[in-house]
Amino acid sequence: MKAAALVARGTAHFNAGRAKQALADFRAAARLGKPGAEVRYFTAHAHLSLGEIPEALESFAALLRAYPSYISAYLDLANLLHQQGRLLDATQTLRAALKRAPGSAPALRRLAELESAQAEEKRAAAAPTRARRPASKRAGALIAGRAVNRPAALSSASERVFRLPDGPLRVKRLGNLPIELLALLAGVKPVIHLTVRDGDRPELEALAKRLGLRLHAFPLGVMLGRDAAALRDAAALWDRENVNPGVSLGYPACCASWYYEHADEPGRDLVNAIYSNTKKKSRLSFMLNDIFYFFSRVRSVQEGARRQKLAAMNPGLDLDVLNLVPWHPCSYDCAPSRAKAAKIWATARKVAPELADALKKTLARPVVFWDWSRFAVLEKKGKNYSVAAPYSLLEKSLIARLEAADTIRSTPKGLELLNGEKMIGHLGGKPAPILLDFSAARPRTRPPRRGPSRMSPTRHP
Ligand SMILES: [Zn+2]
Repeated sequence: MKAAALVARGTAHFNAGRAKQALADFRAAARLGKPGAEVRYFTAHAHLSLGEIPEALESFAALLRAYPSYISAYLDLANLLHQQGRLLDATQTLRAALKRAPGSAPALRRLAELESAQAEEKRAAAAPTRARRPASKRAGALIAGRAVNRPAALSSASERVFRLPDGPLRVKRLGNLPIELLALLAGVKPVIHLTVRDGDRPELEALAKRLGLRLHAFPLGVMLGRDAAALRDAAALWDRENVNPGVSLGYPACCASWYYEHADEPGRDLVNAIYSNTKKKSRLSFMLNDIFYFFSRVRSVQEGARRQKLAAMNPGLDLDVLNLVPWHPCSYDCAPSRAKAAKIWATARKVAPELADALKKTLARPVVFWDWSRFAVLEKKGKNYSVAAPYSLLEKSLIARLEAADTIRSTPKGLELLNGEKMIGHLGGKPAPILLDFSAARPRTRPPRRGPSRMSPTRHP
C-alpha cells in the first residue's frame, strides 16, 4: 500500500472512532516517508482518544518541532496540558503560538481564558476555607474560569451500574453503550452496533453472556442482540452500498429514511435540518434532545478533532452519553420517536435512576444553537440567563451577549435578546442561530415538580 492510501484509510479509521487501527496505518505511512502535518495531528488525537496522554503530548510536541506554524496543534496541546493540570505549561504553549501567529484570535482568546483560570487558582489557593485538590483532579475552568458542573452519573471516570431484577450490572464506559443498552432493555432496539477496540471484546462478551445476548463481530464493529438472524441481517446490510441499516437497529422508519436523505447536506448541521422539519417548534420534549449526540452527525475529516476539542472544554463530563434516544429524530415532534423515547425513559428511571435524573437535568434546558461545536446551554442565574455545561466552542463575546438577556425570542430573522422588556440585541447571521427549548415539556410518567421551577420558561412569539 502507498503512503497516501494508508493515510486515507487511517483517517477513515480515525473518524469512525477506530483509533488503534488509525495509529497502525499512520505508523506504516510514516515508515514510507516523512509524515505530513495532518498525519501527525491525527496521530496525536488518536493517542488522545485511546487515553495515551504521554504519547499524545509527545506527538503534539513532535508535530510542532517539524511544523512550528501549525497553530491548531498549539491550541490542542494547551488544552491537553490544561486538562492535565499544567496550567503554566498551557499558557506558555499559547504564547509560543502567538510568537508564530501574533494575531491568532483563538490563541489570544484561549490565553485570556487560561490567564483568568490562573488568577482564579491563585485566589482559590489564597482562600483558607477552600479545600485544595490536586491540580489534575480540579475541574477545568474553561469558560472564563467556570467549572464544569457534572453529576456523578455523567462522569467520564466511572462505569455505570444498572439495577436489573437479577442483580446489579456494571456497564463499561464505551461510547454510547449505556444508552444503547437502555434502548435494548426497553425493547426499542433489537440490535446494538458498536465500533470497539480489541481490548473491549472480553468485557462485551461478559456483558452479552450476562444479558443472554448474542455477539456478532464483523469488519465494521460488533453487533449485540437477542436474535442471531437479526444480527446477521443487520451486519450484512451495513456492508452494502445505498442500504440504510436504521430500521434494523430499531429506529423509527420515518427517522431512518429522513436521516439517510439529510445527513450529508453540505453546510447544514443535522439539528438545523431537524428543527426546520419540526411543526410545533416550542415546548420540545427533552427526550428527543440530540444537541450533544455527536454520533452520526457530521461526516468530515474534522469530526474527530472537533469532538476532542469539545471534550477538552468539558473535562470529566462524559459527552458520549448525553442523549436518551440513540438516533436522530426526523423532527422534534416525531410521534414514533416520542413513543420509543418514552419506553427508554421508563426503563432508564427503573434500572438507572441516577443516570435518568442527571440526563433529564442536562437535556431539559433551552439551547441556542449555531452548529455542533457552537451552542449555548442556558440556565437562569438570578434574573438573567447563564451559559452552563456542556460547554461548546462558542465565542466569549456571544456568551456575554446571551448572559445579558433575561428573555430570548425567536423571530424569522434570528433571535431577539431582551432585558426587562427592552430589546438589547439581535443574533442573526447565516445560518442564523436557533432557539431550541427543551425545558418546558415534561414526560407524562413523572408528576410535576413541587415548588417554583428554577428556570422560567422562554417566551416565544
Ligand atoms: Zn421520525
